[in-house]
Amino acid sequence: MSPVRRCSRTACSQPAVFTLTYVYADSTAVLGPLATYAEPHCYDLCAEHAERLTAPRGWEVVRLPTDGNSPSSDDLEALANAVREAARPNPSGSGEPVGQGVEVGRRGHLRVLRSAQQHRDR
Ligand SMILES: [Zn+2]
Repeated sequence: MSPVRRCSRTACSQPAVFTLTYVYADSTAVLGPLATYAEPHCYDLCAEHAERLTAPRGWEVVRLPTDGNSPSSDDLEALANAVREAARPNPSGSGEPVGQGVEVGRRGHLRVLRSAQQHRDR
């Protein structure tokens, strides 16, 4: 039994439905389905705050298609896990994120998913 995850925004008590993951090495913020576990550099967001999300200057926001539908493929979940994996700080470090060789190819993969959002079937 895990407690209900709440939006991580200050003064917001909505239940979290998305997880935002910062991939520092890639200057990309990935908004995807709620992560199974809370992890460093992941922020749970409610639907409203996810909607209003804007990226810091120089950052890209990648929104994985999640609305209402469960992810249609395991590939999507695998990607989200891969991104979280990449965002994980070096275990030997002091918690400060450092660039540690995130595959650049992964970024291209993310772009594909983002554009797929335009023609999602309903
Ligand atoms: Zn919120």
